[in-house]
Amino acid sequence: MPGLLARWRQWLRGRKQKLIRAGENMPLLLISYPRDGEAAAAELETAYAHTLPAMGGQARRLYDSLWPALPAIVVVQLRPSNPCGCLGHHHPPGSESRLARRLASELGHAVAEIDLAYESIRSWCPEPLSSLAVGAGAAEMEALRFRAALLAVLLHEMEHLAFPDRSEPEIRSRSREFYRQAMAEMVAQELGRDYGIA
Ligand SMILES: [Zn+2]
Ligand SMILES: [Zn+2]
Repeated sequence: MPGLLARWRQWLRGRKQKLIRAGENMPLLLISYPRDGEAAAAELETAYAHTLPAMGGQARRLYDSLWPALPAIVVVQLRPSNPCGCLGHHHPPGSESRLARRLASELGHAVAEIDLAYESIRSWCPEPLSSLAVGAGAAEMEALRFRAALLAVLLHEMEHLAFPDRSEPEIRSRSREFYRQAMAEMVAQELGRDYGIA
């Protein structure tokens, strides 16, 4: 992989790449991002490689069946926002970027691809403000919310890739549930507080 990326540097100029390894059975992520997307790429790396594998209970189990249904590498195109306003998309077979298509042909196997709009995800607020952890600082809650939301949208789009016949409401209800559980776990672990409406 490092050799591949070095050879492509000229062709990929203007964007940077980062390869992320996470838990066993989870696909590698090849993140492609603009120069000012460094912080968002680092946040996604922390979320996918550390936060998600460390989650104990219900949140992670929601996606147990996802990993075996995905190819070994998923390309993630990071953008600040999408012209259509969506938080992310999955790219069905045949609609992948040149990066994903070239990677697939060099590796000789399938590569899946999604995109994530990190500034839109940052300002997305799926839970009412009343459910924020009591007493936690705004900045620390904001950081956790961004991490949980990045994971929720990533997993949502990955589920579309893995199970193309599943309906949007089914996939959406799972990703909302994941977001809720992930926030509860992260707030308890990192801030030592209860999250949610008592
Ligand atoms: Zn869209
Ligand atoms: Zn969807």
